[in-house]
Amino acid sequence: MSDHKIDVKALLARLGVDADAQNPGFYDGRFENGEGGELVSCSPGDGARLASVAQATRADYERAIETGLSTFERWRTEPAPARGEVVRQMGEALREHKDDLGALVALEMGKVLSEGLGEVQEMIDIADFAVGLSRQLYGLTMHSERPNHRMYEQWHPIGTVGIISAFNFPVAVWSWNAFLAFVCGDVCLWKPSEKTPLTALAVCRVLDGVLERNGWRGISNLVIGDVDQVGEPMLDDRRVPLVSATGSCRMGKIVGPRVAARLGRSLLELGGNNALIVMDDADLDLALVATAFGAVGTAGQRCTTTRRLLVQKGVAAQLTERLVASYASIKIGPPLEAGVLCGPLIDQDAVQTYTDAIARIRADGGEILCGGNALDRPGCYVEPTIARVPTDFALAKDETFAPILYVMEIDDLDDAIRIQNDVPQGLSSAIFTDSVRTAERFLSAAGSDCGIANVNIGTSGAEIGGAFGGEKETGGGREAGSDAWKAYMRRQTCTINWGTDLPLAQGVEFDV
Ligand code: NAD
Repeated sequence: MSDHKIDVKALLARLGVDADAQNPGFYDGRFENGEGGELVSCSPGDGARLASVAQATRADYERAIETGLSTFERWRTEPAPARGEVVRQMGEALREHKDDLGALVALEMGKVLSEGLGEVQEMIDIADFAVGLSRQLYGLTMHSERPNHRMYEQWHPIGTVGIISAFNFPVAVWSWNAFLAFVCGDVCLWKPSEKTPLTALAVCRVLDGVLERNGWRGISNLVIGDVDQVGEPMLDDRRVPLVSATGSCRMGKIVGPRVAARLGRSLLELGGNNALIVMDDADLDLALVATAFGAVGTAGQRCTTTRRLLVQKGVAAQLTERLVASYASIKIGPPLEAGVLCGPLIDQDAVQTYTDAIARIRADGGEILCGGNALDRPGCYVEPTIARVPTDFALAKDETFAPILYVMEIDDLDDAIRIQNDVPQGLSSAIFTDSVRTAERFLSAAGSDCGIANVNIGTSGAEIGGAFGGEKETGGGREAGSDAWKAYMRRQTCTINWGTDLPLAQGVEFDV
């Protein structure tokens, strides 16, 4: 029993996970234990064993693909609003299990409870969005240049969507993909992170009843296992027309070229290195809270985490001082404990990465203003850290997946935008200013080069209604709201001749 004072065994049982036995690592409408060996999941909060899964193998992968393909034959002709009704029921099932699932996300991934619950809420939100979308998969109608012709485009399902997810959003990112893909008429095969197998299994357990009741088992499939057994096969598999992969740039640089080599599609959501700019005219109260949440929330393990604070000279000393003071009040501890704002890192490797980064900051001449230590207690805890560094600090161009905030002084807006954009990644960005002119310049084509650009809002905590994703080494993919659904469908342009002649386009003549 760990120190979070809840009955973990009972929590797992309510989500269909047995703490005392190996759990299925494979689901294609049937839950089965794979032959791929035991994978034990421990809570990063205290190292306590939660449960284990029997991992899927390459043979299970094959079965999941076959199940998906045969189900797709039927699912693709189900009317989209009827598909939306199934997703609506999935959203309802998640509402019923929100508290338990949110707590399990916190336990297994380490984010604090309110963020765990927020993650499940995000699943519910995207389910609602997808239900509405199921009646709005619009195509355009064009005017044909030829008489008595009609031209329009329509959208069809593409088939199996392979979903590779990262540990830090162990369930929400799956739902961004899957719920849109389902209403689009696709089937999904999910390979979750090996660091968060139980949350993935629990989601399938929660949704299985909905699929069974509606006769649609087989649209949502799961393989928990080694990358070489169930991850990489997807990359080379022509039966998977779209691979949606969320994770590090390192992973994306493997996935992107491999999928492209067979001319498949990939949708990449990779690392970020997000800057928050604070101008002299900013509301510092807002900037302070946004920076602290952005840098420390999820213990710095969000793709949108604020990693660089670019502060204009006039307010730099004041804001930095207030930030250091606010860090002193941040409670670090187990994710389910009341009042904790900073939970653990995911594992000891992540702690080592943090410790190495701190050593390098010191060696390279950075100044640690607060934090800088791993905590000597069970679990994977580190102190949120603020480091003052020059604007050309090499390490600040990397994404270190930990709560380390680099503070840099900037002269003016041009300086800020140049430094902000001068990193390989391009996910999220923010500026704090009370000047409309400054804000609009930041948002202009010569401003932020990121997929997300916010004014007087931090870098982290996006809503599902907008398209989410980033540029450059972040991979260019877009998921969730707006017209992100188009990635999950194929577009067909249709031209119909209802006349009695056969005129050719561009006036070409071909008389026979
Ligand atoms: P990771 O790259 O280590 O793993 C992500 C997933 O990819 C896991 O499921 C892993 O098993 C799988 N994987 C790794 N190599 C693979 C391969 N060769 N073939 C197939 N699958 C492979 O990332 P992580 O540590 O789990 O997550 C943290 C990273 O994810 C950070 O860089 C973060 O910024 C990024 N992230 C990005 C977004 C976004 O939307 N842009 C969202 C969440 C996380």
